[in-house]
Amino acid sequence: MRISVDDIIHRAIAKVSSELRKLSLAIHDNPEVALKEKKACKLLTDYLKAKGYEIELNAGGLSTAFIASYTSPAGHKGLNIGFCSEYDALPQIGHGCGHNLIAVSGVAMLLAISEVLDTCSIPGTVKLFGTPAEEAIGGKIIMEKQGVFDGTDLLMMVHPTPGYSGSWRSQCCLSMSVEYFGKASHAAMAPWEGINAGSAATISMQTIGVLREQFKPEWRAHGIIAVGGQVSNAIPDYSRIEYTIRAENTDDLKIVRGHVLRCFEAAALATGCTRKVKEEYAYLDNQDNPVLGRMYEDLMREKYNEPPYPNAGGSTDFGNLSHDFITLHGLYDLAGTGVPNHSKRFTEDARTETAHERTMFAAEAISRIAARCLLDQGFWDSVKKAYGNRLACSSHRHNSDRHLVK
Ligand SMILES: [Zn+2]
Ligand SMILES: [Zn+2]
Repeated sequence: MRISVDDIIHRAIAKVSSELRKLSLAIHDNPEVALKEKKACKLLTDYLKAKGYEIELNAGGLSTAFIASYTSPAGHKGLNIGFCSEYDALPQIGHGCGHNLIAVSGVAMLLAISEVLDTCSIPGTVKLFGTPAEEAIGGKIIMEKQGVFDGTDLLMMVHPTPGYSGSWRSQCCLSMSVEYFGKASHAAMAPWEGINAGSAATISMQTIGVLREQFKPEWRAHGIIAVGGQVSNAIPDYSRIEYTIRAENTDDLKIVRGHVLRCFEAAALATGCTRKVKEEYAYLDNQDNPVLGRMYEDLMREKYNEPPYPNAGGSTDFGNLSHDFITLHGLYDLAGTGVPNHSKRFTEDARTETAHERTMFAAEAISRIAARCLLDQGFWDSVKKAYGNRLACSSHRHNSDRHLVK
């Protein structure tokens, strides 16, 4: 009896599912933040080494990034397919974005497509990119600049959220920090001698709050006072706020950036403080390939009999890759509870058996799409055509100034 490609994929993933669950729980038990994901990186690379994969550590100069690759015995002349795993956690919240699941989804997809290359005897290469620091810094952006993804024909990954989607338009985002420098003084004996840096931080927050009235619905500005002062009986001479702004494209992001920078300036002017603004990292909007996205949504609808998730906000460093490669960032429903990412409840849900099963199915769906790209030339041609069309469309032009921020 001839076994179908879908069966090859299903069996390849089912065979390792319990091993991957152990890996996922070990990562969940040891949450590590951006660029500190040493244990996660070792767990994943040790596992893949034991499975016979060639591993490149320190990919793109990042000590917790890696590449695992496999080339078909039929040669490397076919497609070069890449998947991304993420494994960083959030400070205090742990794996509230479910990156422990994304980590093992990538492993599942790598194993499944290796099996397809072998069994179907088709030329091609499959790679898993271990991409750290998604929640901050943007590991993929650094890796892309270092040429890590060069030569890849197709890049895909999945991410848990409260629903599924193959057409997630994430927001462009820019993270910035502002330091205010004032003058310390005794808060009761000589407050008039002081210049209050804490007040400058407060005024910044309030001014941006008032400005929000003029925001488009999809714009976001959210921040914290990271340092507001040290003790209540001294006028603080130093404060630091951290802000993230988001918009649909870089043209709009530039407008929001201008507004917010003026608020930072106004606070310095009002208090007499000096300020230092640092623009830290920027993510572009995600643009899923519509042909790949449609197939993903069809597979998800067939499995769960639910409509796709309406477009939610959020940003990803994978967005930058979507401007330079044919990509799909498939969203899937973590637990069917509607709980949003970056919450304690999402952290708890990210270790359930249900979440693991849904992750394995999302990995299976992406693997089926990858296999179709390898085996169905007409499908692959339509994927490439859609990508070409998008490069010429207006949404891409709105992002022409992608170097607005580093
Ligand atoms: Zn997140
Ligand atoms: Zn995430």
